[in-house]
Amino acid sequence: MLAKRMEQVASSPTLQVGLEAARLRRTGVEVIDFGAGEPDFTTPEDAKVAARAAIDANFTKYTANAGIDELKAAIANRYRVDYGVEYPAQQVIVTAGGKQALYNTSMALFGPGDEVVTHSPGWPSITEQIKLAGAQAVSVRTQAADGFRILPETIVSALTARTKGVILNSPGNPTGAVMPESDLAIIADEAASRGIWVVLDLCYERLIYEEIPHNLPKILNDRMPERTVLTGSMSKTYAMTGWRCGWVIGPAPVVAACGAIQSHTTSNVCSISQRAALGALGGAQDCVQEMLEEYRSRRDQAAEWFTADARIRLVKPNGAFYFFPDISGLLSPGGISTSAEFAQELLQQAHVAVTPGEAFGAPGFLRISYATSLEQLREGIRRLLEFINTSDRIPRLKPRPAL
Ligand code: GLU
Repeated sequence: MLAKRMEQVASSPTLQVGLEAARLRRTGVEVIDFGAGEPDFTTPEDAKVAARAAIDANFTKYTANAGIDELKAAIANRYRVDYGVEYPAQQVIVTAGGKQALYNTSMALFGPGDEVVTHSPGWPSITEQIKLAGAQAVSVRTQAADGFRILPETIVSALTARTKGVILNSPGNPTGAVMPESDLAIIADEAASRGIWVVLDLCYERLIYEEIPHNLPKILNDRMPERTVLTGSMSKTYAMTGWRCGWVIGPAPVVAACGAIQSHTTSNVCSISQRAALGALGGAQDCVQEMLEEYRSRRDQAAEWFTADARIRLVKPNGAFYFFPDISGLLSPGGISTSAEFAQELLQQAHVAVTPGEAFGAPGFLRISYATSLEQLREGIRRLLEFINTSDRIPRLKPRPAL
């Protein structure tokens, strides 16, 4: 009945968890939601003021399909200031979030017969979008033992004569791994010599906790500007998930192709959202740093709470706002046997919503978002630890031998 492509594409599992939590909440249950990959902060005042002004000025009609000129210029300017890369506004298209930026890019660049190399555990929409474009996603596995670092040699060795591009996400969702510039340089040199695309998903670019040089746009621009595509978003940096505003920056033909695709699908991003984004980009930037500091202290505090149970093996993330612990030590064939089942039971019994590793191609792990208040984190982790220690489907922690 449905098109053949739907045999391969499933609904987004990251959005699913939030829906389930909301459903349970409607029945009167007090749910702690660690599923949502979205900031709990409010949108900055500058964005809200600009949005209200746009409505009052009746700025409520179609805009140019690729976005208003002032916003495209503001985005290009941001990349000039942050990374020292030069793009004219015509090489920017405003999209409905980072998701549409990546979708347009995959549709514009990849098709049947092409392989696209990316990494796992990774954000599920990247591989699904490659499939929607008719191409084949090739995922390189990163390891907890390496802090989920994307080892450049693993990407390089996955390249074949059919590889048309590489999609990298740094800081990464769900691992929080931040790619060092030197690693990207190795991949870029190889990509440049083969003439393949490198697409960089920079959605979490302003959420980096450690002093890790992360001028990835410059690394690519210096080596292969004609094969570099940058995607980004207002969602995480400015707590603007619902406004749906992101962008693609790249060579003129790619941006034009994204514009053609968008002209037949969603047209322009909501005019009011575009003005709001312009307000945020042009307004006070203290909020960005303040949110980062708050995420950092939540990360540090919550990581300590987790260590109360040695069976939860946690790599402290360097970026984004997720923990991605290995919980395989809690699983057993006769008890809770998968992380998906664990997440289900945790929601039903302890009313804590988390996203199972299966969503990111990594069974045995959980994604726990710390884009939520410290009080919620404290209570949620307390419930999680209590669940682990009381469920009769989880092996008992062996008592420490007496000294
Ligand atoms: N990027 C967020 C997440 O991973 C939002 C959900 C989505 O759009 O997939 O949770």
